[in-house]
Amino acid sequence: MNIDKSVSLFREAQALLPGGVDSPVRAFRAVGGQPLFIDCGEGPYLYDVDGNRYIDYVLSWGPLITGHAHPHVVEAIQKAAVKGTSYGAPSPLELDLAKRVMEFMPNIEMIRFVNSGTEATMSALRLARAYTKRDKIIKFEGCYHGHADLLLVQAGSGVATLGLPDSPGVPANTVKDTLVAEFNDLESVERLFKRYPEQIAAIIVEPVAGNMGVIPPRPGFLEGLRVITKREGAILIFDEVMTGFRVHPGGAQTLYNITPDLTTLGKVIGGGLPVGAYGGRKEILQMVAPAGPMYQAGTLAGNPLAMSAGLATLELIRDQKVWDEMERHARQLDVGIESAAKKAGVPIQQTRVGTMRTTFFSETEPVDWNTVKGADKVQFAKFFQKMLSNGVYLAPSQFEAGFLSIVHDERVIAETLAAVEQTFNTWWQ
Ligand SMILES: *Cc1c(COP(=O)(O)O)cnc(C)c1O
Repeated sequence: MNIDKSVSLFREAQALLPGGVDSPVRAFRAVGGQPLFIDCGEGPYLYDVDGNRYIDYVLSWGPLITGHAHPHVVEAIQKAAVKGTSYGAPSPLELDLAKRVMEFMPNIEMIRFVNSGTEATMSALRLARAYTKRDKIIKFEGCYHGHADLLLVQAGSGVATLGLPDSPGVPANTVKDTLVAEFNDLESVERLFKRYPEQIAAIIVEPVAGNMGVIPPRPGFLEGLRVITKREGAILIFDEVMTGFRVHPGGAQTLYNITPDLTTLGKVIGGGLPVGAYGGRKEILQMVAPAGPMYQAGTLAGNPLAMSAGLATLELIRDQKVWDEMERHARQLDVGIESAAKKAGVPIQQTRVGTMRTTFFSETEPVDWNTVKGADKVQFAKFFQKMLSNGVYLAPSQFEAGFLSIVHDERVIAETLAAVEQTFNTWWQ
C-alpha cells in the first residue's frame, strides 16, 4: 500500500495544526503509523489521496448512516445552498427537522438546534441546573459527552485513548460539581445522592455507552436511573448524540422504553454537517431563552444546509425495513469476526447494539470502564493495521464504536469478511 502523499501531507500538517489534526483520535496515536489524508468518500468507501480504497466503518464517527455522499443528501444540500447558506433568522427547515426528529423520538416535545454534540450536552446541563436550581451533576466513568470543561472528567473516547485523567486548562472549580459514578452500577449512583442530598441537578448518561467502545446497559440500569432521578427531583439526560437512530430508529429511549427528561442529539441528525440538538419535556424547554431565562444562542444554529442534510438523512432511514437490514449486516459482521478469531485462537469479546459495535481484544466481559481498560491495545493495533492493509478502515482506537450505514450491503459485508479472514489467517505471522 502506497501512502506517500499522505506521509508528505502529514509532515506539512504537523507544522500547521497541533499534532497534524483537528481532533485528537484522528492522529492514529493509539495504533501507530500515521493518519491517511482523505480525498473523497463514496457510499461505503473512503479514498485516500494516494488512491487507496477502504470500506469505512468509522463513517465520520457515526453521522453518515446513509454512507458518503448519498445522492439524496447531496441533492438536498445543493438545493439549500443555492437559496443561501445562512440567514440568522428562522426558516421553515427548522420546523421540518424538529417534527421529523419528534416522529422518531416522541419524548421530545420541544427542541433547540445547536452546532455540535458538545454544545448540546453543555446546554442541556445548564438547563437542568437552571430548572432544578441545583449545581451538581453526575456523569459516568468512561462516558464522553463532548469537550466542555465541566464534562472533561474521567471521559472516554480520545481522552481515554490518550490516557489523560482530565485536561490541563480545566480549572478545578469548573469540575468541582461534577460527580463521577460507575456505568452499570446503581449503587455508585445511590451513594452520591446520599452524600449530596438535594444538590444534584442531573444525571447525564450515554444510554448505550459508545465512547469506551460499545457497552450495553445491564438490564435494570437505565430503569434504575429513571427511578432514582424521579425520587430525588433530578433531571435524567440521555446523551443520544451517538445512539440516536443507531441503536434503534428511535434511539435508546425507544429501544429500552424509558422516558428521559432531556435528550441530546448530534451526529446523525446533521447528515454529515455540523448539528447538535437538545430537547425533551416542554415544561423544561420553556426555560430556554427567549421563552425563559436560561441563555443559550448560536450564530449558525438551525443552519439551512445542515437542516436539509439532516432531513434528507432521516427520510432515508424512516423505512423500518431499511434500518433492519442495516442491523442484520452488523450482526453478520459479528458472526464473521467471531468465527475467524476463534479459528486463529485469538480471544475477543464483541458488543453490539443495533448498528454500533466493538471488537475488544480481551478475555473479560466488558461491562464498564474498569473491565474495558484492560483490553489488549497491542492486539487491537495489530487488528487495526492488518484490516487497514486489507482495505478496511476501522476507528484507530480500542475504545471506540464502529458503525454501519444503509449502503453497507451484502456485497460490502462479504468483502469485509474476506478481509477479516485474511487478517486472522495471517495473525501469527
Ligand atoms: C460525539 C459525542 C459528543 C460530542 O459531539 P461533538 O459533535 O463531537 O461535539 C457528545 N456525546 C456523545 C455521546 C458523543 O458520542
